[in-house]
Amino acid sequence: MAVIYEVNMSWEENVRLVTPYVPGEQPKEKNIIKLNTNENPYPPSPEAAKVLKGFDAELLKKYPDPNVTLLRESIAKYHGVKTSQVFAGVGSDDVLGMAFLTFFGGEEPVLFPDLTYSFYPVWSELYRIPFTEIPLDDTFRIRPSDYRIPCGGVIFPNPNAPTGIYETKEVIREILNDHPDVVVIVDEAYIDFAGENASVLDLIPEYENLLVTRTFSKSRSMAGARIAYAVGSEKLIDYLMAIRNSYNSYTMNSVSIAAGVASVEDDGYFRESVEKIKTTRDRFTEEIRTMGFTVLPSSANFVFAAPPAPHTAEEVFLKAREKGIYFRHFSSLRANPYLRITIGTDEEMDQVLRFFREEI
Ligand code: PMP
Repeated sequence: MAVIYEVNMSWEENVRLVTPYVPGEQPKEKNIIKLNTNENPYPPSPEAAKVLKGFDAELLKKYPDPNVTLLRESIAKYHGVKTSQVFAGVGSDDVLGMAFLTFFGGEEPVLFPDLTYSFYPVWSELYRIPFTEIPLDDTFRIRPSDYRIPCGGVIFPNPNAPTGIYETKEVIREILNDHPDVVVIVDEAYIDFAGENASVLDLIPEYENLLVTRTFSKSRSMAGARIAYAVGSEKLIDYLMAIRNSYNSYTMNSVSIAAGVASVEDDGYFRESVEKIKTTRDRFTEEIRTMGFTVLPSSANFVFAAPPAPHTAEEVFLKAREKGIYFRHFSSLRANPYLRITIGTDEEMDQVLRFFREEI
C-alpha cells in the first residue's frame, strides 16, 4: 500500500515519510501457477529439510549467534574467501538496506540504472541518500561511460532485474576502474543462473571497494528462510557489521542458520536444480519467441517478455491472473510493454504456453 495520510496533526510532521517498495503478490489460493516473485519451483536441498525436521526446539530458548559464524564459515569455504570477508543477513533486502545505510552516506548521488530493482530508490529515500538513475541503453544494457560522473556510490544487479540481462566482467571492471573512491555494489541475486565463472567475486582481491551480494532466495529455493550474504574486503565487512550491530544484533535466527549451512554443503543438489531451471528457461524463451513475443536474453530465473501486438502486457497479465497464472507487470514507462515471468517447473511452463496459445 502506498502511503499515505494527509499530515494534519503536529506529531505527524515528525514521521519519516517514504513511498514503500511493493513486493509481488503472495496469493492465498492453492492451485495457482505463481510466477510473479522469482521463487524457485523446486524444494530446498533435502539436507536442509532434514535439519529442519530434526531441529531441537530447546535451542530456541537461546539467542542465535549474532556473528552467524557457522553459516559465514561455510559460505567462506564455498567461495574460497575468509570468514571475515562474509556478512550475513536476513535476505538481500536486509543486506542491501544495511549496505545503503553503511556506504552511501556522501553528498554526491548514488548511481543505479533505470530499469532496475525498484527497492534501490526506496532505500535511498528512506536514508535520505541522493540518487541518480542512469537509463539503460536501447537494448537495456548498462553503458559504463554513462556512469563516468562524480557520485557517492554505484549499485546494480547482475543479471539485472527485471530485464534478466547479464553484463560481462569487463563492463563491471570499467565501472570499478572509474570509481576507486566510492563503494560499488553488485547485487548478484540471480548470478547462479548466469553460468560458471559469471560472478565478480574473483575481482574482490583487486578492489577493496567492491561489495557483492548473494541470496538463498532464488537458486537455493529458500526465500522463506530469509538468508543472504555479502562478500567483500575485510574492511567493507567490518563497516557493515558495525552498522548492523548498531541496529539489530540478532538478525538471523538459529533455524535459518542451521538450514542454510546444510544447503551450502549440498552442492550437487543445488547445481542440479539450477541446471533444470536454465534448461526450462531456454526452451520457454524459444517457444514464446516463435509465438511472436519479444524476449530479452535472460541469464536469470525469469524472462522479461513483451507479447506481440495488438496484445499488451497489462491485458495478458490480467487475463492470466483470472486463470490463476500470476506474472509480474510493472507500470513504469520502459517496463510497461513487458511481463516478467518467473521460470517454474516444466509442467507449469507448459501450462503457460497452453494459455498463450489459447489467448494470443
Ligand atoms: N535483489 C534483486 C535484484 C532482487 O530481485 C531481489 C528479489 N526481490 C532481491 C535483491 C531481494 O531478495 P531477497 O531479500 O529475498 O534475498
